[in-house]
Amino acid sequence: MTLYANTLAFSRADGSIDDSIYTDAELKQLTTIAYGDQFNGNANFERVYTERVYKNGTSKYSNLVGADGVLKLYNDSKMLPKAAESAVADFWNHVAGEEVVRFVNVVENSDEVIHDVAGDNGVLGAQTYNGNGLIMYPDSWHIDHLTAEQQENYHMATVIHEIGHALGIPHLGGGNDGTNAANAVRFGNEVMGPWSILDHPDGIQNTLVDAAALAIAALTWRKPRKLATWIFSDNASEKYVIYKNRGVKTNLSMKPSVKNDWGVKFDWNLIQSPIVTYRTIAKNYNLYQFEPEQIDGKTYSVAKQVGYTGNPNQYRIGMTIKILAVYPTDDPRVRVVRFKDGDEELTMYEAALDQPV
Ligand SMILES: [Zn+2]
Repeated sequence: MTLYANTLAFSRADGSIDDSIYTDAELKQLTTIAYGDQFNGNANFERVYTERVYKNGTSKYSNLVGADGVLKLYNDSKMLPKAAESAVADFWNHVAGEEVVRFVNVVENSDEVIHDVAGDNGVLGAQTYNGNGLIMYPDSWHIDHLTAEQQENYHMATVIHEIGHALGIPHLGGGNDGTNAANAVRFGNEVMGPWSILDHPDGIQNTLVDAAALAIAALTWRKPRKLATWIFSDNASEKYVIYKNRGVKTNLSMKPSVKNDWGVKFDWNLIQSPIVTYRTIAKNYNLYQFEPEQIDGKTYSVAKQVGYTGNPNQYRIGMTIKILAVYPTDDPRVRVVRFKDGDEELTMYEAALDQPV
């Protein structure tokens, strides 16, 4: 763990993609869109299709998305108002069609931290990929000629752009590594390319190129995901997501998010399971640290995720475990089991087991 990131930059072995998620024709369609033209997209997407790699030259594009497939951010930047957080996350969530970005209130639960660094170095924001988190440079901003509202929207465009990098999306300004537009000092429409608030008074809007690049980046995450499937619909070009003034306007729908945390507040004596039994782990589910305050009956405490049962480095599917207790969650259909794993006590959703406890 570093000061500003709990999750290390990740790329798959040799920069490979998971090519089991789309058909060949779908992958071709996505990579063609993300390839773009002279001043949008990125020519490296051709290699995603022809070589099944996500690379610029020999260097692999990486991301900071955790093992659960959601980028969890902790906000410690004065440039990002708390009230704007959920709309900033929802910009990408709506492009994805499901939750891929979440702001968390506990720094330990985050993949990386958004924070400010002093000094005017000509850079507005940065994604470091090296443990230094997502950086905003307040002293580099010289936009006093804009209204306060425009200024904030411009800041948020930068935050959204840098989050896009954390999701694994490279620059989308056209040509090699998506750098044509920047080299020609041109602004465009892609959130992941050079962008100016002056050209976009109606807000920060994704393009099909941004969306296709996200869908491809998600094939390189620790947990590869199928996202933004609306791209394949006939009316994809009419779909939009717009961030403006701490809100999101969209005609895209979003699947309800999968709850990755659990917490309970109940009378311990009523709930604790008296049964000790053995069960087998049958499915890939998240694992959480067990802490007594999660069930103290007074506080609502959310469990910290510490891994998942299908982790190839510590594979637990097929393992028989001793169940110590069963707990309800705030979703009446969902229960959590607590079990011993070596010296530690962990919890996971009961649905991970071969049969109910
Ligand atoms: Zn950038």
